[in-house]
Amino acid sequence: MKNRLEHPIFKILSETADDNGMEIYVIGGYVRDLLLHRTSKDIDIVVKGSGIKMAELTAKRLGGLNVNVFPKFGTAMLRYKGVEVEFVGARKESYRADSRKPIVEEGSLEDDQKRRDFTINALAISLNKATYGKLIDPFNGEKHLEERLIITPLEPGITFSDDPLRMMRAIRFASQLNFHIDPLTFQAIADNKERIKIVSIERIMDEFNKIMLSPEPSRGISLMDDSGLLKIVFPELTDLKGVETVDKIRHKDNFLHTLTVLDTVALYSGDLWLRWAALLHDIGKPATKRYIQGQGWTFYGHNHVGERLTAKIFKRLKLPQNEKMRYVQKLVSLHMRPIVLSEEEVTDSAVRRLLFDAGDDIDDLMTLAEADITSKNEEKVRRFLKNFKIVRRKLKEVEEKDSVRNFQPPIRGEEIISTFNLPPGPIVGEIKNAIKEAILDGIIENSYETARTYMFEITKQMGINRMDNNN
Ligand code: ATP
Ligand code: MG
Repeated sequence: MKNRLEHPIFKILSETADDNGMEIYVIGGYVRDLLLHRTSKDIDIVVKGSGIKMAELTAKRLGGLNVNVFPKFGTAMLRYKGVEVEFVGARKESYRADSRKPIVEEGSLEDDQKRRDFTINALAISLNKATYGKLIDPFNGEKHLEERLIITPLEPGITFSDDPLRMMRAIRFASQLNFHIDPLTFQAIADNKERIKIVSIERIMDEFNKIMLSPEPSRGISLMDDSGLLKIVFPELTDLKGVETVDKIRHKDNFLHTLTVLDTVALYSGDLWLRWAALLHDIGKPATKRYIQGQGWTFYGHNHVGERLTAKIFKRLKLPQNEKMRYVQKLVSLHMRPIVLSEEEVTDSAVRRLLFDAGDDIDDLMTLAEADITSKNEEKVRRFLKNFKIVRRKLKEVEEKDSVRNFQPPIRGEEIISTFNLPPGPIVGEIKNAIKEAILDGIIENSYETARTYMFEITKQMGINRMDNNN
């Protein structure tokens, strides 16, 4: 244990505490991650007495480092050589029914360990010289780490009712670390699920996004579903569940399909927002589902409905209302295009249009679309994947030839206005659009000269003369 507390801050903390006669421990996530051989950048320190005082003494010893003090919480934080160190005095907490905010009083180290959410997060290591490196583990956290077990140190019903965010944390750790949740602890989550409503959506989403970033996000989402939390927090996802059969024709379960697509995308990309696009790609299906005689189950326009729903969901869940959201919307709206393309003969012009619409997000779109192929029919999957290869190759060829990825129309509106002495208005847009379409269809190449010549051709057909001919 001793030699694994490698960061130079530990020696400084040890000496500072000893010189001032204070008891000091490193506790919580840092100890857990140390035992799991995971790196972590935040170090939580507990002292017997004032955490703020300990932070100030440490900063002084380090030559007057800056300390951020939060008197309201009795905590202080400093940064040193790439780590963030947070100090708190050992405390005892008690809760009221209507709030996650506890009543706090001074306590022992054990009191402080009791207020921690899970046994694996309640481990402490002594930093005082006489006992340096000693693990203090009143709740068998070390054993539970070996067993890969999430379990609360106290009665789980009380733990979750006191602070319902812990329900999300339990599921997040299970997903992130690939641990399982003790059955009684899990039952208590199911029993207390309604309590999640007193937690702010921002905090819930912090945990949800950690689930999204875990190696197999479906684990966490399934646990949310099994406990009933998903229906409360994210009903649009549970609406995807179920299968229906008419005339012996069944559609697939879109919830399970979505989870498969999400896990597949997660194999290829650690990008949170690409993973969100996978999560929401079929979110418009329940609203567009129809059974049509002779056609079977259809979901016409589910990508466009999905695009609109994405904005609604992002707003409600207080996710970023910026280019991240627009990126997810774009991928949701375009997610079928590469597949449709691969079903037909792959023409240059179709590829050019796809490149034009996807722009720089084309690679992410291809990752999503390829993950979306989850049919049980192996022959079908093989054919799709083969055609996908052709689409990818064509994309490269067309991109090299025509560079339409970041296409800017070569003729600007102002030029059309001044050349033909036109008032700004729909005619100008029509001309501009005709030029763009001609380039995307491959009628003319993507260059200024050809576009200008083409502009004169089409305006002539429209009966518009250039200004110098007019006078
Ligand atoms: P990570 O840093 O990977 O998100 P963590 O467990 O370190 O996970 P932090 O938010 O950094 O989480 O919290 C540090 C420690 O504080 C935890 O390990 C745990 O002991 C305690 N803790 C955090 N949040 C809670 C909570 N809601 N209830 C009880 N204890 C908590
Ligand atoms: Mg932490």
